Amino acid sequence: MVERRRAIHVRTLMANADEGLAVVGADGKFRLFNETAERLFGVSRGRALGQAVSKLGHEELTAAVARARAGDHEGEHVPVMLDAGGRVLSCKVLGFTHEGAPACAIVVRDDTELTECQERAEAILDGASDGIVVFAPDSRVAYANPAAVEMLGSRASSLVGRQVSLDELLGTHACDGEECACDLPDAMARSESREVIVDGEEQRVLAVRANPVRDREGGVIGRVVSLHDITAERRVALMKNEFVSTVSHELRTPLTSIKGYVDLILDGEAGDINDIQREFLSIVQENSDRLVSLINDLLDISRIESGRIHLRVEPLDVADIVEGAAETFRAVAEHAGVSISTKVARGLPRAAGDRDRIGQVLLNLTSNAIKYSPGGGTVTISARRRGGFVEIAVADPGIGISREDQTRLFEKFYRVDSSLTREIGGTGLGLSICKTIVELLGGGIWARSAPGKGSTFTFSLPVAPPEMVRTPGVEGPLATPGGTVLVVDHDPDIAGLVATFLRKKGYEVITAHSAAEALSLAASQQPRLITLDVLLDDMDGFDLLQHLKDDPRTAGIPIVVLSIVCDEGRSLRLGAAEYLEKPIDQERLLGIVGDLVGGVASPLVLVVDDDRAIVDALCRTLKSRGFATARAYDGREAMAAIGRRRPDLVLLDLRMPVMDGYQVIQEVKSREATMDIPIVIMTGHRIDRDKTDIVSLAAEHLSKPFSPEQLVERVEALLDREG
Ligand code: ADP
Repeated sequence: MVERRRAIHVRTLMANADEGLAVVGADGKFRLFNETAERLFGVSRGRALGQAVSKLGHEELTAAVARARAGDHEGEHVPVMLDAGGRVLSCKVLGFTHEGAPACAIVVRDDTELTECQERAEAILDGASDGIVVFAPDSRVAYANPAAVEMLGSRASSLVGRQVSLDELLGTHACDGEECACDLPDAMARSESREVIVDGEEQRVLAVRANPVRDREGGVIGRVVSLHDITAERRVALMKNEFVSTVSHELRTPLTSIKGYVDLILDGEAGDINDIQREFLSIVQENSDRLVSLINDLLDISRIESGRIHLRVEPLDVADIVEGAAETFRAVAEHAGVSISTKVARGLPRAAGDRDRIGQVLLNLTSNAIKYSPGGGTVTISARRRGGFVEIAVADPGIGISREDQTRLFEKFYRVDSSLTREIGGTGLGLSICKTIVELLGGGIWARSAPGKGSTFTFSLPVAPPEMVRTPGVEGPLATPGGTVLVVDHDPDIAGLVATFLRKKGYEVITAHSAAEALSLAASQQPRLITLDVLLDDMDGFDLLQHLKDDPRTAGIPIVVLSIVCDEGRSLRLGAAEYLEKPIDQERLLGIVGDLVGGVASPLVLVVDDDRAIVDALCRTLKSRGFATARAYDGREAMAAIGRRRPDLVLLDLRMPVMDGYQVIQEVKSREATMDIPIVIMTGHRIDRDKTDIVSLAAEHLSKPFSPEQLVERVEALLDREG
């Protein structure tokens, strides 16, 4: 009775199953064949039962059943796909043992629609021009469309079915196998986007985006990676940058002459001019200045975008920079009815930054503050410390900026659209340049403002770490400058202009228009300084710089590179003392030349000691006796100072952090250009025994304590002897 009921149950189940079910007995013939199987195979039960599987006419199925019955795949489902008159049947064949004899079950399903759906999806993916790669949840590559294979090369197709990270797929895997972020299990759930360069027959730039694929409950069931080829866009951007850069450079050359000569006429160098002439020329001057700053902005942007911006990071005295900016603008501000005040917190640490670039940021913010404060009032520049940063803020009482505009201020070319901003004029580039510079230096920039209530722009710079090297400047009584300067420039107009600037200040000037001329004049005339344009006809200017630094007769002459080609880094590496961009700013040029050549009458003494109080006292004494001085607080600073301007004598402490005095002596005495600089050792300690050889290279040894008079006497005696 129970047996019978069970049989009815089984039959009902079989009859109503969505899947076709058939059982093959030990004799290889069908024992069971349900209604769905009838429909799918197109054979009635009556005809199937007792017949061999081969009668269905599907060879693959017959073979799979034979293998299953032979026990080949004990306990495993063997999948078989069949084509049954245009329908796709997917079968699973399972071998088992029934009453000691081999039997087998077949489960069959109609997958026609599913397969069509899959084929349609694949056709879409195959036709897509973006590359698409799908990862299974176990980070196996499940699928890569043809575009992906084309973009990533054969690597992509060979990775299908393998467990790899996104980096391995892209060929950017750079981890050394230890703790590698791309192997983290949560990588699957991460969304990320980046640009990668892939090498192949031709290099491509790909924009890669990876996103998790989630099921309805939000569980991660895979990851889809899309690849978009942006090679062409990048190429165009590069061309645009190069174009802007070339055009700007080309504009600079004529502008250098226009601006320079107008400045000279206005300075009265061409004789007296009447008031009308002065007025007209002032307009020319103003507009050429505007053009220069526009070109500078454009060049900065193109440099930033192509990653060619060069930053010289050193510890900065923020108070100095703040005062400098206020000073620069005082006259302009007064003219605009604005006053400038400064507020620098006491004991402010030095900030790490590029002096010129930070100056540029602060000038930009201050100039905006004045520009956008038409009602007058006070612009305040302040600085304070906040955690590991120094914050510098420029606050104005001006027109203010709406919340909406604030979010876009730092975008390139963005200007608030109002009648006032239209009238004031500008490029909308300044703040975007400021942002990039500050961020490259590791800081940030932000604005706080409300319309009609004024604005405060603040930027931050990291506090300089104590071991950072400073390039010390020269202080002291710079007596009237003088001596001969060699000006090298292939353009006679510009050489003439630089010469006029220098002659005005009392220098004698000789000019050279070619590298050959420059080399022979430098060696024969021994100028005190050389200004060098790197665009020459007969030799690359950088090669000339190298030649001058390699020749012992000219190696010690400081060289200032004046160029429209921005390559400050290369110039300084090759041994240039300074780098100045054209169009030349007269004041800066004369400042730099004065700094490097100094007064003919004042010998330069470099004082090196980690005790700042001692350095301070010595410099004061020396300056009062007519010496120029430079300070350094450790060995590396000392070497930087010597590289910048050759001192006539070095006062050197031996025990110092970073690089000690012994190392300084060794360095100075091993270089041809500096070996004859007399060094006076000042120390309160006994000299290390094993270092007496090094110490013997010094000219003199003063034991601390000594009186300032003693010191000056020794310095004077030594310089007399040398001189
Ligand atoms: P520019 O001043 O040449 O237009 P910037 O990039 O320096 O370019 O400034 C972008 C815009 O931000 C300006 O056009 C102006 O609308 C707004 N802006 C900048 N500084 C101030 C400020 N201190 N007060 C009000 N608006 C400002």
